[in-house]
Amino acid sequence: MLSADSVYSQSYSEFHWSIPEHYNIAHDVCDKWADGSGRLALIQQGPDGQVKRYTFDQLKAWSDSLAAAWQAQGIQAGDRIAIFLAQGLETALAHLATYKIGAIAMPLFTLFGTDALRYRLNDSGASTLITDQQGLGTLLPLREHLPQLKYLYQSDSQKDQEQALSLWQAIAAHPEPAPRTLNTRADDPAVLIYTSGTTGSAKGALHAHRVLLGHLPGVEMSHNFLPTGEGLMWTPADWAWIGGLLDVLLPAWHHGIPVLAYRFPKFDAQATWKLMSEHGVTHTFLPPTALKMLRRSQWSREQWPLKLQSIASGGESLGAQLLDWAKQELGITINEFYGQTECNMIVSSCSAWFPGQAGKIGKAVPGHKVAIVDDQGQIQRTGVEGHIAVQAPDPVMFLGYWQKPDATREKFVGDWLLTGDKGMQDEDGYIQFVGRDDDVITSSGYRIGPGPIEDGLMGHSSVAMAAVIGVPDPERTEVVKAFIVLKEGVEPSQALVKEIQEHIKRRVAAHEYPRQIEFVDALPMTTTGKVIRHALRKLSQ
Ligand code: ATP
Ligand code: MG
Repeated sequence: MLSADSVYSQSYSEFHWSIPEHYNIAHDVCDKWADGSGRLALIQQGPDGQVKRYTFDQLKAWSDSLAAAWQAQGIQAGDRIAIFLAQGLETALAHLATYKIGAIAMPLFTLFGTDALRYRLNDSGASTLITDQQGLGTLLPLREHLPQLKYLYQSDSQKDQEQALSLWQAIAAHPEPAPRTLNTRADDPAVLIYTSGTTGSAKGALHAHRVLLGHLPGVEMSHNFLPTGEGLMWTPADWAWIGGLLDVLLPAWHHGIPVLAYRFPKFDAQATWKLMSEHGVTHTFLPPTALKMLRRSQWSREQWPLKLQSIASGGESLGAQLLDWAKQELGITINEFYGQTECNMIVSSCSAWFPGQAGKIGKAVPGHKVAIVDDQGQIQRTGVEGHIAVQAPDPVMFLGYWQKPDATREKFVGDWLLTGDKGMQDEDGYIQFVGRDDDVITSSGYRIGPGPIEDGLMGHSSVAMAAVIGVPDPERTEVVKAFIVLKEGVEPSQALVKEIQEHIKRRVAAHEYPRQIEFVDALPMTTTGKVIRHALRKLSQ
């Protein structure tokens, strides 16, 4: 089916995975670089602006000690260790030590409130949790509702306290532990990450150590191939999400590239420009929402010169507006990629390899068999809409939903994992993302994805943010409704509604224009910055 340029099809057919039987993420991302040479691993900028640097040698020594401490404590392989911390040194150490003892790391986003924490901690049955003073403030009132949680560690205290043990005291108590062989199997579970919860309640996706190897080709493509050991990678996406952990932190360290850690209390465009400029960030993953906020902000080349070489973006539709903006303002073609917590980085653009196409999420990444299939798992002809699906087995694919065998089974038709997203493929192999199953709008017999309309709206000079849904209509089944956040200083009016409608008719398609427009102050977003369209649908009932 792929008749793309020769480089692509050649590499596609020649690609083969080399997944060893035994493989451990901590060895691959840290210990293999810890040769006493002082190679830089992590630059951390604190809230006070103070910058600290850490080497792979230090990370290996500290994570060895922490692993020994946890084993002495009785924490075992297979136990779930919750990491309720923002980007930073202790977060990385907790991940490394978890992998070293064959336990399962369960990252938790620091903005989670009590309900989200309680659900994930009880669902996973985590025995251990690492957090800081601030996290303890959220967690301690919940303690009596978390019967399976045995050990609580605090990352920012030097001494054990009544409420929690000190992570650094545990490390200090086990200096230079005996060398350990990290002989987990590539298929052994390593990470439990919950999905974003965009369509309902979040599900725990359990991944094996091999998930990192499965990510590498896609990460490489989305950054126009990564140079070993050079540059500096950073993302505002927290390492608690698959995008921060497995698209940035761990792949960067696999390649020996240092990573910048910075914890945003709240995403801030000006702080982002400053941070990337001051540290000379070369490769970054910026989700579309972050890009939209950067586009709205002021940036001057003179004030904040950048060393950026690549920007990868995914998690939501990117759209032509952001692509054009980055090309013009930053001189960079953003590489859009596509994936999900259960099976990530399977489609990507790569401007160094083939020209990107606005509205297309890229081509199947070599190593992954991605196709458009119907409900029965039959591959669709090019140009026909269907499920975006990935064929098992695949190293990047999850082991299953945590203790939800039925949900895991329902995710597959035969050996095809159905992503729950609709798409189309053209004869050159480019895949177009149409929309999530529930978000595709049926109007007067047309099937309309929200992405291109939202992108068109973003192209109007008065629009800051936009989201599009279908609302029931007796005549047309559904009609398109747009929720719009206007740019500062712009007043809503009937004339503006008309103008925006005309703009979409002209720019996108006459049959796709939003018959209903509602101006709002903000859009409902997940903690990962994705628009929750089902909340908008509820609002419109
Ligand atoms: P939940 O599964 O809990 O409802 P979620 O699907 O948002 O939440 P994630 O696994 O974080 O959780 O997100 C993956 C989804 O994000 C994909 O299935 C797809 O719908 C969307 N997505 C990812 N990349 C892109 C992209 N490039 N363009 C459009 N949508 C994307
Ligand atoms: Mg999902």
